[in-house]
Amino acid sequence: MEFYSTQNKALRVSFKEAIFNSLPQDKGLYMPAEIPFLKPEFIKNLADYSFQDIAFEIASAFLKDEIPSQILKKITGDAINFPAPLIHLEDNLYVLELFHGPSLAFKDFGARFMSRIMAHFFKEGEKELNVLVATSGDTGGAVALGFAGVPNTQVTILYPKGKVSPIQELQLTTHGQNIRAVEIEGTFDDCQALVKQAFSDRELNEKYRLTSANSINIARLIPQTFYYFNAYSQLLKQGKKYVVFSVPSGNFGNIGAGLLAWKMGLPVKQFLAATNVNDTVPAFLTHGKYQPKPSVQTFSNAMDVGNPSNWVRIMDLFDENVSDLKKLVTAYSFTDEDTIESIRQVYKDYKYVVCPHTAIAFRALQKWQIHHPEDKSANVFLSTAHPCKFPEVFPDNISRSIRVPEQVKELESRTKLKVAINNDFEDFKKYMLK
Ligand SMILES: *Cc1c(COP(=O)(O)O)cnc(C)c1O
Repeated sequence: MEFYSTQNKALRVSFKEAIFNSLPQDKGLYMPAEIPFLKPEFIKNLADYSFQDIAFEIASAFLKDEIPSQILKKITGDAINFPAPLIHLEDNLYVLELFHGPSLAFKDFGARFMSRIMAHFFKEGEKELNVLVATSGDTGGAVALGFAGVPNTQVTILYPKGKVSPIQELQLTTHGQNIRAVEIEGTFDDCQALVKQAFSDRELNEKYRLTSANSINIARLIPQTFYYFNAYSQLLKQGKKYVVFSVPSGNFGNIGAGLLAWKMGLPVKQFLAATNVNDTVPAFLTHGKYQPKPSVQTFSNAMDVGNPSNWVRIMDLFDENVSDLKKLVTAYSFTDEDTIESIRQVYKDYKYVVCPHTAIAFRALQKWQIHHPEDKSANVFLSTAHPCKFPEVFPDNISRSIRVPEQVKELESRTKLKVAINNDFEDFKKYMLK
């Protein structure tokens, strides 16, 4: 399958080029030239497939011409080696837990798949890969764990100083080997801007083969469709056929993957894009004006994004038709106060602890239900991270009930390695060229 640029549909590249380039030269984003429509029997019988089988079927629909089937099966099987259970809370309410991978956040799906795909395509004698990634916290951990020890690959992770949680910092800084952590005196948007500038810098591109592990890379989006299908498979087992997904959104990669799944034939009734006060998209859907703005720091720091990079992909999926888009996607934004209130409410009502991002998705679902009391769809909110990654947010009584997984305790005994750099492209470039 070929991929085009959202800026120029005539520009076509192979999958290998799309993932190694990350971004087309024209600063658009890559999109699949045809979105495969899955057979209705496959969707109807999803309940008969395991998560690994579903992952393989969907990956094949995109990549069967690019990667031999046996290899693709191994890649999907290795990448998706942890579950994504759908937990029933009450009546029609479910939470989809996406945090059972090594970094305890949903970004493990994208990072693990992408690292294996890149290793597959890498040919002996080619220039070493230099993976650059900006993180507000969770991406960095997933990428560090997904790429640690991958041969011929050097990974540089930029994160905003003092704006990631202690566990997130441990996940970024304790691997050594081919993983380097760079602490930037600035915000996540500053980190993202430095990475973007590096991609268009001639000197850096001559010396290295730069590639991005942010969700601008199409290799991250494809595996994120897997768990939407798998969630539907679990719903079918419970006799449910209609679903509303509420997705905590920052760069809009997660919900973008959900919409891609819908385009492939997954019968989703409604998507809720749930944001914190960084409300560029909810404001756009309300007022019709897309106005990126500087990000504001919140309790749900992985969603502190003022200019969501995947929004152009979503517009592209709808051929830029906003009124069609608004029929399927409803966006809501919430404050830190709402976040805490929802964390308390979910704990009180279900004895269940949600991370601050997940709390916002729960809140969005509640708001949607108030406006659609007659709707009997399964209401699923996506839980994007394990609550232990954000300990400072919780009231004491809830904090005490969070169990920290063993893999985190092990990190605490390791040494943190990081380099501090100003928010200045020339300084960053000097570091890269060293
Ligand atoms: C990255 C992240 C998000 C936002 O996902 P996008 O794909 O950027 O919209 C939400 N929650 C958590 C915990 C995350 O790590």
